[in-house]
Amino acid sequence: MKRRASVVVIGGGISGLSIAYNLAKLGLDDVVVVEKRYLGSGSTGKCGTGIRQQFTTKEHIMLMKESVKLWEKLSEELGRDVGYRQTGYLWLIRDEEELSVFKENVNIQNKYGVPSRIINVEEALEIVPYLNPEVFIAAAFCHKDGKASPFKTVNAYYEAGRRLGVEYYTYTEVRGMVVENGRIRKVITSRGDIETDKVVNVAGAGARKIGEMVGVNIPVENYRHHIVVTEPFQEFVKPMVIRGKLYFTQTERGGIIGGIDMPEKPDQPLRARLDFLEVFATNLVKVMPILKNVNILRQWAGYYVMTKDNHPILGEAEKLEGFYIAAGFSGHGFMMGPIVGKLIAELIMYGKPSVPIDALRLERFERGELIYERAVIG
Ligand SMILES: Cc1cc2nc3c(=O)[nH]c(=O)nc-3n(C[C@H](O)[C@H](O)[C@H](O)COP(=O)(O)OP(=O)(O)OC[C@H]3O[C@@H](n4cnc5c(N)ncnc54)[C@H](O)[C@@H]3O)c2cc1C
Repeated sequence: MKRRASVVVIGGGISGLSIAYNLAKLGLDDVVVVEKRYLGSGSTGKCGTGIRQQFTTKEHIMLMKESVKLWEKLSEELGRDVGYRQTGYLWLIRDEEELSVFKENVNIQNKYGVPSRIINVEEALEIVPYLNPEVFIAAAFCHKDGKASPFKTVNAYYEAGRRLGVEYYTYTEVRGMVVENGRIRKVITSRGDIETDKVVNVAGAGARKIGEMVGVNIPVENYRHHIVVTEPFQEFVKPMVIRGKLYFTQTERGGIIGGIDMPEKPDQPLRARLDFLEVFATNLVKVMPILKNVNILRQWAGYYVMTKDNHPILGEAEKLEGFYIAAGFSGHGFMMGPIVGKLIAELIMYGKPSVPIDALRLERFERGELIYERAVIG
Protein backbone atom coordinates (compact mmCIF):
# COMPACT_ATOMS: atom_id res chain seq x y z
CA MET A 1 0.00 0.00 0.00
CA LYS A 2 1.28 3.47 -0.95
CA ARG A 3 2.07 5.75 2.01
CA ARG A 4 1.86 8.92 -0.11
CA ALA A 5 -0.47 9.94 -2.93
CA SER A 6 -1.26 13.13 -4.84
CA VAL A 7 -4.97 12.40 -4.53
CA VAL A 8 -6.85 9.93 -2.33
CA VAL A 9 -10.28 9.04 -3.73
CA ILE A 10 -12.58 7.75 -0.98
CA GLY A 11 -15.16 5.38 -2.50
CA GLY A 12 -14.97 2.82 -5.28
CA GLY A 13 -18.33 3.39 -6.95
CA ILE A 14 -18.76 4.79 -10.45
CA SER A 15 -17.95 8.34 -9.29
CA GLY A 16 -14.68 7.39 -7.58
CA LEU A 17 -13.56 5.08 -10.36
CA SER A 18 -14.31 7.63 -13.04
CA ILE A 19 -12.55 10.43 -11.15
CA ALA A 20 -9.46 8.26 -10.53
CA TYR A 21 -9.33 7.18 -14.18
CA ASN A 22 -9.69 10.77 -15.42
CA LEU A 23 -6.98 12.04 -13.03
CA ALA A 24 -4.61 9.38 -14.33
CA LYS A 25 -5.58 10.22 -17.90
CA LEU A 26 -4.66 13.85 -17.24
CA GLY A 27 -1.23 12.70 -16.09
CA LEU A 28 -1.33 12.00 -12.35
CA ASP A 29 0.60 8.82 -11.73
CA ASP A 30 -0.05 8.32 -8.01
CA VAL A 31 -3.81 8.29 -7.49
CA VAL A 32 -5.29 5.83 -5.02
CA VAL A 33 -8.87 4.68 -4.51
CA VAL A 34 -9.79 3.52 -1.01
CA GLU A 35 -12.93 1.38 -0.82
CA LYS A 36 -14.25 -0.17 2.36
CA ARG A 37 -15.79 -3.18 0.61
CA TYR A 38 -15.45 -4.19 -3.06
CA LEU A 39 -15.61 -1.91 -6.10
CA GLY A 40 -19.24 -1.18 -6.99
CA SER A 41 -20.51 -2.45 -3.64
CA GLY A 42 -22.38 0.80 -2.86
CA SER A 43 -25.32 2.22 -4.78
CA THR A 44 -23.56 1.70 -8.12
CA GLY A 45 -23.90 -2.08 -8.05
CA LYS A 46 -27.52 -1.77 -6.96
CA CYS A 47 -28.80 0.71 -9.49
CA GLY A 48 -31.45 0.58 -12.19
CA THR A 49 -29.03 1.09 -15.15
CA GLY A 50 -30.82 4.16 -16.59
CA ILE A 51 -29.12 7.04 -18.41
CA ARG A 52 -31.25 10.02 -19.40
CA GLN A 53 -31.21 13.66 -20.37
CA GLN A 54 -34.89 14.28 -19.68
CA PHE A 55 -34.35 16.50 -16.64
CA THR A 56 -35.99 19.79 -15.72
CA THR A 57 -33.10 22.11 -14.83
CA LYS A 58 -30.39 23.62 -16.96
CA GLU A 59 -27.73 22.22 -14.61
CA HIS A 60 -28.90 18.62 -14.90
CA ILE A 61 -29.65 18.80 -18.62
CA MET A 62 -26.22 20.25 -19.45
CA LEU A 63 -24.41 17.72 -17.26
CA MET A 64 -26.30 14.82 -18.79
CA LYS A 65 -25.93 16.06 -22.34
CA GLU A 66 -22.16 16.01 -21.85
CA SER A 67 -22.30 12.71 -19.99
CA VAL A 68 -24.20 11.04 -22.83
CA LYS A 69 -21.51 12.19 -25.28
CA LEU A 70 -18.99 10.35 -23.09
CA TRP A 71 -21.22 7.27 -22.68
CA GLU A 72 -21.49 7.01 -26.45
CA LYS A 73 -17.72 6.46 -26.69
CA LEU A 74 -17.03 4.93 -23.29
CA SER A 75 -16.57 1.28 -24.34
CA GLU A 76 -14.07 2.40 -26.96
CA GLU A 77 -12.28 4.78 -24.62
CA LEU A 78 -11.96 2.30 -21.76
CA GLY A 79 -11.16 -0.63 -24.05
CA ARG A 80 -13.99 -2.78 -22.71
CA ASP A 81 -17.72 -3.07 -23.36
CA VAL A 82 -19.81 -1.21 -20.75
CA GLY A 83 -23.12 -2.52 -22.11
CA TYR A 84 -24.26 0.95 -23.19
CA ARG A 85 -27.38 0.99 -25.36
CA GLN A 86 -29.15 4.11 -26.58
CA THR A 87 -32.66 2.69 -26.36
CA GLY A 88 -34.43 5.79 -25.06
CA TYR A 89 -36.60 6.77 -22.11
CA LEU A 90 -40.36 6.62 -22.56
CA TRP A 91 -42.23 8.64 -19.97
CA LEU A 92 -45.95 7.78 -19.87
CA ILE A 93 -48.16 10.81 -19.21
CA ARG A 94 -51.25 10.10 -17.13
CA ASP A 95 -53.49 13.14 -17.55
CA GLU A 96 -53.84 16.65 -18.96
CA GLU A 97 -52.18 18.25 -15.96
CA GLU A 98 -49.09 16.07 -16.37
CA LEU A 99 -49.15 16.72 -20.11
CA SER A 100 -48.78 20.46 -19.60
CA VAL A 101 -45.85 19.88 -17.20
CA PHE A 102 -44.16 17.53 -19.69
CA LYS A 103 -44.64 20.03 -22.52
CA GLU A 104 -42.83 22.59 -20.40
CA ASN A 105 -40.06 20.06 -19.58
CA VAL A 106 -39.60 19.13 -23.24
CA ASN A 107 -39.35 22.84 -24.12
CA ILE A 108 -36.53 23.33 -21.62
CA GLN A 109 -34.78 20.15 -22.80
CA ASN A 110 -35.05 21.19 -26.47
CA LYS A 111 -33.76 24.66 -25.59
CA TYR A 112 -30.53 23.06 -24.34
CA GLY A 113 -30.27 20.70 -27.30
CA VAL A 114 -31.85 17.49 -25.98
CA PRO A 115 -34.08 15.94 -28.69
CA SER A 116 -36.99 14.86 -26.48
CA ARG A 117 -40.54 15.13 -27.82
CA ILE A 118 -44.15 14.53 -26.90
CA ILE A 119 -45.67 11.58 -28.78
CA ASN A 120 -49.15 10.08 -28.88
CA VAL A 121 -50.29 6.70 -27.56
CA GLU A 122 -49.99 4.96 -30.95
CA GLU A 123 -46.39 6.08 -31.38
CA ALA A 124 -45.58 4.94 -27.84
CA LEU A 125 -47.04 1.51 -28.63
CA GLU A 126 -44.80 1.27 -31.66
CA ILE A 127 -41.77 1.86 -29.45
CA VAL A 128 -42.95 -0.49 -26.68
CA PRO A 129 -45.65 -2.98 -27.68
CA TYR A 130 -48.05 -4.45 -25.10
CA LEU A 131 -48.31 -1.24 -23.05
CA ASN A 132 -51.82 -0.78 -21.68
CA PRO A 133 -53.17 2.18 -23.71
CA GLU A 134 -55.73 2.91 -20.99
CA VAL A 135 -53.16 4.07 -18.45
CA PHE A 136 -51.67 6.99 -20.38
CA ILE A 137 -52.82 9.74 -22.74
CA ALA A 138 -49.45 10.63 -24.34
CA ALA A 139 -45.73 10.14 -23.67
CA ALA A 140 -42.43 12.00 -23.65
CA PHE A 141 -39.65 10.22 -25.52
CA CYS A 142 -35.95 10.86 -26.02
CA HIS A 143 -34.21 8.36 -28.27
CA LYS A 144 -30.79 9.51 -27.06
CA ASP A 145 -31.43 8.32 -23.49
CA GLY A 146 -30.49 4.76 -22.64
CA LYS A 147 -28.88 2.36 -20.20
CA ALA A 148 -25.63 0.52 -19.42
CA SER A 149 -24.38 -2.28 -17.22
CA PRO A 150 -23.13 -1.02 -13.84
CA PHE A 151 -20.94 -4.11 -13.39
CA LYS A 152 -19.31 -3.86 -16.79
CA THR A 153 -18.82 -0.11 -16.31
CA VAL A 154 -17.16 -0.54 -12.91
CA ASN A 155 -14.88 -3.20 -14.33
CA ALA A 156 -14.00 -1.15 -17.40
CA TYR A 157 -13.09 1.96 -15.36
CA TYR A 158 -11.09 -0.18 -12.92
CA GLU A 159 -9.05 -1.86 -15.64
CA ALA A 160 -8.47 1.36 -17.59
CA GLY A 161 -7.40 3.17 -14.40
CA ARG A 162 -5.09 0.34 -13.41
CA ARG A 163 -3.37 0.45 -16.79
CA LEU A 164 -2.67 4.15 -16.13
CA GLY A 165 -1.23 3.47 -12.67
CA VAL A 166 -4.20 3.98 -10.33
CA GLU A 167 -3.99 1.79 -7.22
CA TYR A 168 -7.13 0.41 -5.60
CA TYR A 169 -7.30 -0.60 -1.95
CA THR A 170 -10.46 -2.60 -1.39
CA TYR A 171 -11.70 -3.78 2.01
CA THR A 172 -9.93 -0.71 3.36
CA GLU A 173 -11.99 1.74 5.36
CA VAL A 174 -11.27 5.43 5.80
CA ARG A 175 -11.54 6.11 9.53
CA GLY A 176 -10.29 9.65 9.84
CA MET A 177 -8.16 12.42 8.40
CA VAL A 178 -5.50 14.68 9.83
CA VAL A 179 -5.94 18.38 9.04
CA GLU A 180 -3.24 20.88 10.05
CA ASN A 181 -3.25 24.63 9.43
CA GLY A 182 -6.31 24.38 7.23
CA ARG A 183 -4.79 21.69 4.96
CA ILE A 184 -5.37 17.97 4.75
CA ARG A 185 -2.19 16.10 5.75
CA LYS A 186 -3.19 12.46 5.76
CA VAL A 187 -5.96 9.94 5.45
CA ILE A 188 -6.21 7.32 8.18
CA THR A 189 -7.39 3.93 6.92
CA SER A 190 -7.93 0.51 8.45
CA ARG A 191 -4.68 -0.54 6.73
CA GLY A 192 -2.49 2.43 7.64
CA ASP A 193 -2.11 6.11 6.83
CA ILE A 194 -1.70 7.76 3.43
CA GLU A 195 -0.10 11.20 3.28
CA THR A 196 -1.84 13.55 0.87
CA ASP A 197 -3.15 17.09 0.57
CA LYS A 198 -6.05 16.25 -1.74
CA VAL A 199 -9.01 14.04 -0.98
CA VAL A 200 -12.12 13.36 -3.05
CA ASN A 201 -15.15 12.40 -1.03
CA VAL A 202 -17.15 10.07 -3.28
CA ALA A 203 -18.29 7.84 -0.47
CA GLY A 204 -21.96 7.75 -1.50
CA ALA A 205 -24.07 6.92 1.53
CA GLY A 206 -20.92 7.44 3.64
CA ALA A 207 -20.25 10.95 2.30
CA ARG A 208 -21.75 12.79 5.28
CA LYS A 209 -19.58 10.79 7.68
CA ILE A 210 -16.44 11.50 5.65
CA GLY A 211 -17.33 15.21 5.80
CA GLU A 212 -17.70 15.00 9.58
CA MET A 213 -14.13 13.68 9.82
CA VAL A 214 -12.86 17.07 8.62
CA GLY A 215 -15.61 19.29 10.06
CA VAL A 216 -17.40 19.87 6.73
CA ASN A 217 -21.16 19.47 6.90
CA ILE A 218 -22.48 17.62 3.85
CA PRO A 219 -26.27 17.88 3.95
CA VAL A 220 -27.30 14.59 2.35
CA GLU A 221 -29.73 11.94 3.53
CA ASN A 222 -29.72 8.26 2.63
CA TYR A 223 -33.07 6.87 1.52
CA ARG A 224 -33.53 3.18 0.88
CA HIS A 225 -34.89 2.21 -2.54
CA HIS A 226 -36.05 -1.23 -3.60
CA ILE A 227 -35.59 -2.86 -6.97
CA VAL A 228 -36.14 -6.26 -8.62
CA VAL A 229 -35.08 -8.24 -11.63
CA THR A 230 -37.24 -10.89 -13.29
CA GLU A 231 -36.43 -13.98 -15.27
CA PRO A 232 -35.25 -13.16 -18.82
CA PHE A 233 -37.44 -13.25 -21.92
CA GLN A 234 -37.34 -12.00 -25.48
CA GLU A 235 -36.68 -8.26 -25.54
CA PHE A 236 -39.57 -5.91 -26.19
CA VAL A 237 -39.09 -3.30 -23.44
CA LYS A 238 -36.11 -1.55 -25.00
CA PRO A 239 -36.38 1.94 -23.45
CA MET A 240 -36.70 2.74 -19.77
CA VAL A 241 -40.46 3.09 -19.24
CA ILE A 242 -41.67 5.42 -16.52
CA ARG A 243 -45.14 6.09 -15.19
CA GLY A 244 -45.39 8.20 -12.04
CA LYS A 245 -42.94 6.64 -9.60
CA LEU A 246 -42.74 3.31 -11.45
CA TYR A 247 -39.80 2.56 -13.76
CA PHE A 248 -38.72 -0.54 -15.65
CA THR A 249 -36.71 -1.74 -18.61
CA GLN A 250 -35.05 -4.95 -19.77
CA THR A 251 -31.43 -5.68 -18.98
CA GLU A 252 -28.96 -6.97 -21.55
CA ARG A 253 -29.84 -10.48 -20.43
CA GLY A 254 -33.57 -9.89 -20.95
CA GLY A 255 -34.93 -9.65 -17.40
CA ILE A 256 -37.15 -6.74 -16.39
CA ILE A 257 -35.32 -4.51 -13.92
CA GLY A 258 -37.40 -1.92 -12.12
CA GLY A 259 -38.71 -0.29 -9.01
CA ILE A 260 -41.24 2.09 -7.53
CA ASP A 261 -41.09 4.68 -4.79
CA MET A 262 -41.99 3.49 -1.29
CA PRO A 263 -42.34 5.68 1.78
CA GLU A 264 -39.10 5.37 3.75
CA LYS A 265 -37.36 7.15 6.62
CA PRO A 266 -33.70 8.04 6.16
CA ASP A 267 -30.91 5.58 7.05
CA GLN A 268 -32.95 2.38 7.08
CA PRO A 269 -30.83 -0.78 6.86
CA LEU A 270 -30.58 -2.27 3.37
CA ARG A 271 -33.17 -4.98 3.92
CA ALA A 272 -35.81 -5.95 1.37
CA ARG A 273 -39.47 -5.08 2.07
CA LEU A 274 -42.14 -7.58 1.09
CA ASP A 275 -44.85 -4.93 0.59
CA PHE A 276 -42.68 -3.36 -2.13
CA LEU A 277 -43.07 -6.49 -4.22
CA GLU A 278 -46.83 -6.20 -4.14
CA VAL A 279 -46.90 -2.48 -4.95
CA PHE A 280 -44.35 -2.89 -7.76
CA ALA A 281 -45.99 -5.96 -9.31
CA THR A 282 -49.48 -4.41 -9.19
CA ASN A 283 -48.31 -1.23 -10.89
CA LEU A 284 -46.16 -3.05 -13.44
CA VAL A 285 -48.99 -5.35 -14.52
CA LYS A 286 -51.36 -2.38 -14.75
CA VAL A 287 -48.99 -0.73 -17.24
CA MET A 288 -48.05 -3.96 -19.03
CA PRO A 289 -50.59 -6.72 -18.42
CA ILE A 290 -48.60 -9.22 -20.51
CA LEU A 291 -46.02 -9.38 -17.70
CA LYS A 292 -48.42 -10.88 -15.19
CA ASN A 293 -46.86 -14.35 -15.27
CA VAL A 294 -43.21 -13.31 -15.30
CA ASN A 295 -41.29 -14.59 -12.27
CA ILE A 296 -39.25 -12.25 -10.13
CA LEU A 297 -35.77 -13.65 -9.58
CA ARG A 298 -34.23 -11.23 -7.15
CA GLN A 299 -35.04 -8.20 -5.01
CA TRP A 300 -32.56 -5.91 -3.32
CA ALA A 301 -32.23 -2.39 -1.92
CA GLY A 302 -29.73 0.44 -2.14
CA TYR A 303 -29.52 4.08 -1.12
CA TYR A 304 -30.53 7.18 -3.00
CA VAL A 305 -28.28 9.81 -1.41
CA MET A 306 -30.56 12.83 -1.49
CA THR A 307 -29.92 16.55 -1.28
CA LYS A 308 -32.62 19.12 -0.56
CA ASP A 309 -32.79 20.21 -4.21
CA ASN A 310 -32.22 16.76 -5.80
CA HIS A 311 -28.96 17.90 -7.41
CA PRO A 312 -25.50 16.55 -6.57
CA ILE A 313 -22.87 18.42 -4.60
CA LEU A 314 -19.85 18.90 -6.84
CA GLY A 315 -16.68 20.86 -6.17
CA GLU A 316 -14.07 21.81 -3.59
CA ALA A 317 -15.26 22.78 -0.12
CA GLU A 318 -14.69 26.50 0.50
CA LYS A 319 -13.94 25.72 4.14
CA LEU A 320 -11.15 23.22 3.46
CA GLU A 321 -8.70 23.49 0.58
CA GLY A 322 -8.04 20.19 -1.14
CA PHE A 323 -11.30 18.58 0.02
CA TYR A 324 -13.37 17.76 -3.06
CA ILE A 325 -16.90 16.40 -2.98
CA ALA A 326 -19.01 14.51 -5.52
CA ALA A 327 -21.99 13.22 -3.60
CA GLY A 328 -25.76 13.51 -3.13
CA PHE A 329 -26.66 12.32 -6.62
CA SER A 330 -30.30 11.91 -5.56
CA GLY A 331 -30.79 8.74 -7.60
CA HIS A 332 -28.89 9.87 -10.74
CA GLY A 333 -25.25 9.16 -10.03
CA PHE A 334 -24.70 6.20 -12.31
CA MET A 335 -25.62 8.13 -15.44
CA MET A 336 -23.50 11.10 -14.33
CA GLY A 337 -20.37 9.01 -13.63
CA PRO A 338 -18.50 9.75 -16.86
CA ILE A 339 -19.00 13.53 -16.78
CA VAL A 340 -18.48 13.83 -13.03
CA GLY A 341 -15.16 12.00 -13.35
CA LYS A 342 -14.02 14.29 -16.12
CA LEU A 343 -15.08 17.54 -14.44
CA ILE A 344 -13.75 16.78 -10.97
CA ALA A 345 -10.43 15.66 -12.47
CA GLU A 346 -10.24 18.91 -14.47
CA LEU A 347 -11.08 20.93 -11.36
CA ILE A 348 -8.29 19.23 -9.41
CA MET A 349 -5.72 19.47 -12.20
CA TYR A 350 -6.54 22.86 -13.77
CA GLY A 351 -8.66 24.58 -11.13
CA LYS A 352 -11.53 24.88 -13.60
CA PRO A 353 -13.78 22.25 -15.17
CA SER A 354 -14.78 22.40 -18.86
CA VAL A 355 -18.48 22.53 -17.93
CA PRO A 356 -19.35 25.05 -15.19
CA ILE A 357 -20.44 23.39 -11.93
CA ASP A 358 -20.39 26.43 -9.64
CA ALA A 359 -24.15 26.26 -9.12
CA LEU A 360 -23.67 22.77 -7.63
CA ARG A 361 -21.19 23.71 -4.93
CA LEU A 362 -21.73 22.67 -1.32
CA GLU A 363 -22.10 26.27 -0.18
CA ARG A 364 -25.40 26.69 -2.11
CA PHE A 365 -27.21 25.20 0.89
CA GLU A 366 -25.86 27.84 3.31
CA ARG A 367 -26.56 30.58 0.80
CA GLY A 368 -30.08 29.34 0.07
CA GLU A 369 -29.30 29.07 -3.65
CA LEU A 370 -31.10 25.82 -4.34
CA ILE A 371 -32.09 24.64 -7.82
CA TYR A 372 -34.97 22.20 -7.65
CA GLU A 373 -35.21 19.09 -9.87
CA ARG A 374 -38.76 17.77 -10.33
CA ALA A 375 -38.00 14.65 -12.36
CA VAL A 376 -36.80 12.22 -9.69
CA ILE A 377 -37.98 8.66 -10.26
CA GLY A 378 -38.38 5.74 -7.91
C1 LIG B 1 -32.46 1.06 -6.50
C2 LIG B 1 -31.62 2.11 -7.15
C3 LIG B 1 -31.81 2.44 -8.48
C4 LIG B 1 -31.02 3.42 -9.09
N1 LIG B 1 -31.17 3.65 -10.42
C5 LIG B 1 -30.36 4.53 -11.04
C6 LIG B 1 -30.43 4.72 -12.44
O1 LIG B 1 -31.23 4.07 -13.13
N2 LIG B 1 -29.59 5.62 -13.02
C7 LIG B 1 -28.70 6.34 -12.26
O2 LIG B 1 -27.98 7.16 -12.83
N3 LIG B 1 -28.61 6.18 -10.93
C8 LIG B 1 -29.41 5.30 -10.30
N4 LIG B 1 -29.30 5.12 -8.96
C9 LIG B 1 -28.39 5.96 -8.19
C10 LIG B 1 -26.95 5.50 -8.37
O3 LIG B 1 -26.85 4.13 -8.03
C11 LIG B 1 -26.02 6.32 -7.49
O4 LIG B 1 -26.31 7.69 -7.58
C12 LIG B 1 -24.56 6.11 -7.92
O5 LIG B 1 -24.28 4.74 -8.03
C13 LIG B 1 -23.63 6.80 -6.97
O6 LIG B 1 -22.32 6.37 -7.26
P1 LIG B 1 -21.14 6.79 -6.29
O7 LIG B 1 -19.91 6.23 -6.85
O8 LIG B 1 -21.21 8.26 -6.06
O9 LIG B 1 -21.52 6.09 -4.90
P2 LIG B 1 -21.50 4.55 -4.50
O10 LIG B 1 -21.66 3.65 -5.64
O11 LIG B 1 -22.45 4.40 -3.36
O12 LIG B 1 -20.00 4.36 -3.98
C14 LIG B 1 -19.56 4.90 -2.78
C15 LIG B 1 -18.55 3.91 -2.19
O13 LIG B 1 -17.92 4.50 -1.06
C16 LIG B 1 -17.60 3.47 -0.18
N5 LIG B 1 -17.38 4.02 1.16
C17 LIG B 1 -18.29 4.63 1.97
N6 LIG B 1 -17.71 5.00 3.12
C18 LIG B 1 -16.40 4.65 3.03
C19 LIG B 1 -15.28 4.76 3.91
N7 LIG B 1 -15.39 5.32 5.12
N8 LIG B 1 -14.09 4.28 3.50
C20 LIG B 1 -13.94 3.71 2.28
N9 LIG B 1 -14.98 3.57 1.40
C21 LIG B 1 -16.18 4.03 1.79
C22 LIG B 1 -18.82 2.55 -0.26
O14 LIG B 1 -18.53 1.23 0.20
C23 LIG B 1 -19.18 2.63 -1.73
O15 LIG B 1 -18.69 1.54 -2.49
C24 LIG B 1 -30.06 4.12 -8.32
C25 LIG B 1 -29.87 3.80 -6.98
C26 LIG B 1 -30.62 2.79 -6.39
C27 LIG B 1 -30.39 2.45 -4.97
